[in-house]
Amino acid sequence: MALYRDEGVVLRTVKLGEADRIVTVLTKEHGKVRAVAKGVRRVKSRFGGRLEPFMRIDLLIAEGRSLDVVSQAASIGTYAAEICIDFEAYSAANVIVETADKLVSTEHERARDQYLLAIGALNALAKHMHEPTVVAQSYVMRALSAAGWTPRLDSCVVCGRRDELAYFSTLSGGMMCLTDRTPEATRLSREAYRQLRALISGDWASLDEAVYHGGAVRDGAEQDTMADIGHRIGQSAAESADPKISMRSGIGEGHVRAPTLADAARNAAQSAVARIVEEWGEYYLERPIRSLRLLHS
Ligand SMILES: [Zn+2]
Repeated sequence: MALYRDEGVVLRTVKLGEADRIVTVLTKEHGKVRAVAKGVRRVKSRFGGRLEPFMRIDLLIAEGRSLDVVSQAASIGTYAAEICIDFEAYSAANVIVETADKLVSTEHERARDQYLLAIGALNALAKHMHEPTVVAQSYVMRALSAAGWTPRLDSCVVCGRRDELAYFSTLSGGMMCLTDRTPEATRLSREAYRQLRALISGDWASLDEAVYHGGAVRDGAEQDTMADIGHRIGQSAAESADPKISMRSGIGEGHVRAPTLADAARNAAQSAVARIVEEWGEYYLERPIRSLRLLHS
């Protein structure tokens, strides 16, 4: 049997017979590969726990007539353990592997962009770099964009004008102006529009800001006094040695406050964006991303 070597990330596994499993792996050079891991469910398997979802592994695979067979597997990324001890990260990681599995539909067809996006997102979850839900949402939009389904955000999908863009239509593929909007299009606030753009471009500075202290509304239409406080929190975070820690703790320490209009606007924007991500995924993959629904519930 011919052998090939590649690195990959385990997307899912299914039981096969008494002790085996079929593992679905998204690889760097060979696209999606399904291969049998023999004896993997035995207590003393030579694969140990290396062939579980989210594991990044170096693989040696033997080509088989119907299914390939895993010959060797060595761990190269330890982030699966970090993901599995944090329920939010775990739920978000499920969105990533489910989406990647659905998006890369053909086996043995190189999909390097998809591989890099998937391991980038899993790595961000393992290192707790950003809010897990937002990592999952951004991953879904970017993976679909890489596959050719990028929403048009800068101009109306009907007439091309660049102002008065206030509605989003999944069916038509992007933003619509007030004149051209169709009944199924969703009204988007400026904040929601900004968040959606940031998700697709991977603008984490804006996304983290929107999640942690609602500062994102400060240059939007919905200005109020909280916007200034949000701005100050942002500044103190930027000045400190560890921005992530101070951003998380800054609100609790110096700025205990009741929910404001700005918070409400921010939360409404997040729900609107969550719905769009779900719709966009379902429409272009032609089936729902089930774990995404669990994430928002
Ligand atoms: Zn228009």
